Amino acid sequence: MNRREFLAAGGGVLLAGLPAVLPATPAAAQTSGARARIVIAGAGAAGLAMAARLSRGMPGATITIIDAKKEHHFQPGFTLVGAGLWSPARVTERNADYMPRGVDWVEEAVAEFDPDANAVVTTSGRRIDYDFLIVATGLKLDYTAIEGMDASLIGKEGIASIYAGPNEAAASAAAIDRFLETGGTGLFGRPAGEMKCAGAPLKITFIADDKARRQGRRGAVELIYNAHGPAVFAVPPVNDKVKEMFAARGVAVNYGHVLKAIDPGARRATYRTEAGDVTLDYDFIHVVPPMRAPDAVRQSPLPWQEGNLAADGWVEADKPTLRHPRYANVFSVGDIAGVPRGKTAASVKWQVPVVADNLIAETAGRTPSATFNGYTSCPMVTGYGKAMLIEFDYDGTLIPSFPFIDPLKELWVSWLIEEKGLLGAYRAMLRGRA
Ligand SMILES: Cc1cc2nc3c(=O)[nH]c(=O)nc-3n(C[C@H](O)[C@H](O)[C@H](O)COP(=O)(O)OP(=O)(O)OC[C@H]3O[C@@H](n4cnc5c(N)ncnc54)[C@H](O)[C@@H]3O)c2cc1C
Repeated sequence: MNRREFLAAGGGVLLAGLPAVLPATPAAAQTSGARARIVIAGAGAAGLAMAARLSRGMPGATITIIDAKKEHHFQPGFTLVGAGLWSPARVTERNADYMPRGVDWVEEAVAEFDPDANAVVTTSGRRIDYDFLIVATGLKLDYTAIEGMDASLIGKEGIASIYAGPNEAAASAAAIDRFLETGGTGLFGRPAGEMKCAGAPLKITFIADDKARRQGRRGAVELIYNAHGPAVFAVPPVNDKVKEMFAARGVAVNYGHVLKAIDPGARRATYRTEAGDVTLDYDFIHVVPPMRAPDAVRQSPLPWQEGNLAADGWVEADKPTLRHPRYANVFSVGDIAGVPRGKTAASVKWQVPVVADNLIAETAGRTPSATFNGYTSCPMVTGYGKAMLIEFDYDGTLIPSFPFIDPLKELWVSWLIEEKGLLGAYRAMLRGRA
């Protein structure tokens, strides 16, 4: 599709940054007059979107949102900062600007969740009782779980990581530029376990490859992607496509390699493999840390007690409703929810209306009926000006929203969604309007 066809197909709406970029969410439920006390832990993408919807849908409720963080980051934009295209300022806003009127913002973290007593305790020791709790704390980036690594090393000694924040993403862009200048071996990869935006480690690999080509430096660098398991991406058709593209672009892949230690001075990385530890020398490394629940959640009764989501503390949740099976008045939304896949802002966009509509219906005496199908999406950037718009559900089935976009084709239109459309759609989501 060329630019003219795209605009004719409705891309003009997208270019204006309006929420039409993403498919419409279910129609809002009617309102509830319940005077319930609702606590939302976390004011990131999911917490703010939930506060916006509930404050409109439950005008009689007392809504308290708890988060110490004052800045709001548009994290999907970190990839574009890491690509050297966006500035850190473009992905940084103020949480205050998105706080819905009438919602009480407690500017502290939750230190303790006590679901048996229907209460949370903040870091200052303040106890807040609730009738309903929404857990929306996102996740913790555990850089120090990699021996020798810590986030302060990003931008030094050939170490990059677009995950840690806008400034670290900008430092990563500079580290990529230095690497392309000097040449050598660049290592990429991802952690074992659940992670947010599993496409981002692949995107930054594609960006480094494309940038090297554009600068005539591809012959000076060797790029290696270290996959944590037997695939580079969990959805089989996407995995096949990315492998094919890596092969065509000369990106080598090691399977079953999990980064366990790093020696920044010697520029050496050690990976855990089935055959024992393997050490690789590098000139540049993009580190993606292990991710787990924040400590307050992990140490609470809320996480899964068994199964593969238990060890990292993900909150136990029913897949279609995100309701806690053991605590019926607790829901989790966003990255903290212990469901397969998800962990994207695109998933948040679909999860929040489901939980909000069900809560509104239930407190108004109606039967809640909204369900979440696991929708996850990621514009997989494959170079400057090219991306694949990949959307899938809990089962890993591709569920494209736009008939004119082939999910497994590198397209300019899919790039445009990443570069021009997502931020507008994201802001509308924070305001509960998308
Ligand atoms: C590099 C990168 C690229 C990405 N690319 C994409 C993409 O292309 N498409 C996409 O859809 N998504 C992408 N994402 C993922 C997306 O940004 C997240 O999935 C989304 O932000 C999750 O929202 P959340 O509210 O769960 O968590 P967050 O937005 O991270 O917010 C969590 C909030 O909880 C707060 N908190 C933590 N602990 C506590 C506590 N104890 N008490 C109170 N508050 C607490 C934090 O301060 C924070 O404000 C990307 C993310 C990164 C890092």
